[in-house]
Amino acid sequence: MIQKFKISSEKVRVMIVFLDRVENWECLYEECSAKCCSEGIELTLEDVERISKRHSDFFRIEDTRILLKGKDGRCIFLRDDLKCGIEDIKPVACRLLPFVIHEVRYGDEPFIKLRLVVDCPGVGYGNNVDLGEIERNATVFLHEKQELLMKLREDRNFLKNLFP
Ligand code: SF4
Repeated sequence: MIQKFKISSEKVRVMIVFLDRVENWECLYEECSAKCCSEGIELTLEDVERISKRHSDFFRIEDTRILLKGKDGRCIFLRDDLKCGIEDIKPVACRLLPFVIHEVRYGDEPFIKLRLVVDCPGVGYGNNVDLGEIERNATVFLHEKQELLMKLREDRNFLKNLFP
């Protein structure tokens, strides 16, 4: 049973760096067997709270990180038809596609570097990529993760106590 939690801290400015450029993109998951949906996608506490309203036993704790569980190396929510089984409530990190997180630094002005998925077959197809939406999701990820790290600085056992 997941406890209800709320962490609050003042939101800090963040820097988002796109290491690659892309104009059009469509997720052609059938062509690449949904290779982005691998085990170990990093979750925020808010991701856990949202998903745990419908599912249980879907994450593991690794040091300061909360990671999606998997099966045979694939995300536990990836369906047999290669679609996401939790599309409407999926983790914020999954909302960054066609970008993935290359590097994250936390601090007074945290930053995140995003790179294009390697050999993504959907680049150049579909609609214009909404970089504003990706920036919003990257900002959410950074804020939520920074707040978790602040909590862990106050209490090293915060995650262990939250998810005994
Ligand atoms: S939650 Fe959905 S989009 Fe994210 S890795 Fe799993 S199947 Fe893919």
